[in-house]
Amino acid sequence: MTPWCGVIEAFRKFLPVTDQTPIISLCEGNTPLIQATRLAKRICPQADLYLKVEGANPTGSFKDRGMTLAVSKALEKQARAVMCASTGNTSASAAAYGGRAGLPVYVLVPAGKVALGKLAQAMAHGATVIQIEGNFDQALSIVKDVCVEEQFELVNSLNPFRLEGQKTAAMEVCDQLGRSPSYHFLPVGNAGNISAYWKGYKEYRAAGQITQLPKMMGVQAEGAAPIVRGHVIDHPQTMATAIRIGNPASWKLALQAVQESSGTVEMVTDEEILVAYQALAKEEGVFCEPASAASVAGLTKDSQAGRLPEGATVVCTLTGHGLKDPDIAVNISPKTRTVKASRDAVFSLLQI
Ligand SMILES: *Cc1c(COP(=O)(O)O)cnc(C)c1O
Repeated sequence: MTPWCGVIEAFRKFLPVTDQTPIISLCEGNTPLIQATRLAKRICPQADLYLKVEGANPTGSFKDRGMTLAVSKALEKQARAVMCASTGNTSASAAAYGGRAGLPVYVLVPAGKVALGKLAQAMAHGATVIQIEGNFDQALSIVKDVCVEEQFELVNSLNPFRLEGQKTAAMEVCDQLGRSPSYHFLPVGNAGNISAYWKGYKEYRAAGQITQLPKMMGVQAEGAAPIVRGHVIDHPQTMATAIRIGNPASWKLALQAVQESSGTVEMVTDEEILVAYQALAKEEGVFCEPASAASVAGLTKDSQAGRLPEGATVVCTLTGHGLKDPDIAVNISPKTRTVKASRDAVFSLLQI
């Protein structure tokens, strides 16, 4: 078996690269698809549930799949620098891949609204991090202007190479399952990823690798649900900061994915997201970030409402790693106890 060398090598024939493209990879992709039997028994006993654990990518989120291609293409066209707006994970990924390519990286983030782990990554990898007193949508609008004027490569998901790279996740899911799932749940922020998965599934079917297509099930946070509500949200609010977006760049593509696949876009409350977040960590041993758990929160809701048929095969994408935002886990868990360093003191705390 040849070693895994990242998504461009693995899915080269589906991607817009040539022998001349310099490949910047951190061996992203090939992430685990884990069956979640215990969780399924409780939230969707009529279905088989699998978790696509994208937090296992090199910088801890699915953004790496798109970034490997976007940065490789930026280098190929000799861009002066790469730049993005970010709720955190795009900046972490751009910083890592851009650094590896030897390109300057500029990132704009909403001040005070990015999880510390993500900010730390962007800084560690040497990006120039600019915090703006505004939200993601405002940051993206500024970045678009700067990239045009300075001829920097924009590496947000408006960059078509991002979605091309991200579609490989759908292909991996099919390879791992031996077929396509019947339902695929994803958190939706800027709506690039759900669009990319749908493209991946369709291309895999066209190539004869699968025969069926899943229903695409997008899940937004209630305070940041422009697609569900049908209008831009000026001040999106949710503690799931990775999907705190009021005007998604891939809005139309996402709607198309949902309509073509007979899926839905729905919204869940922050409370429902946190319940799913804790269940994933406690019952399945999978620590994802809050935004990721929106997928499982949406599944829970649909299953309880009787919208999930008997025998369904469900995949939930867990988009990012829980360690990026440890504050939330610490804040919602029971406090740890500190006692004297004695056997008795420790025994007194055991619940046996
Ligand atoms: C970027 C991101 C999302 C949202 O993906 P979109 O493609 O913007 O819809 C969800 N979860 C995490 C952890 C992310 O980093």
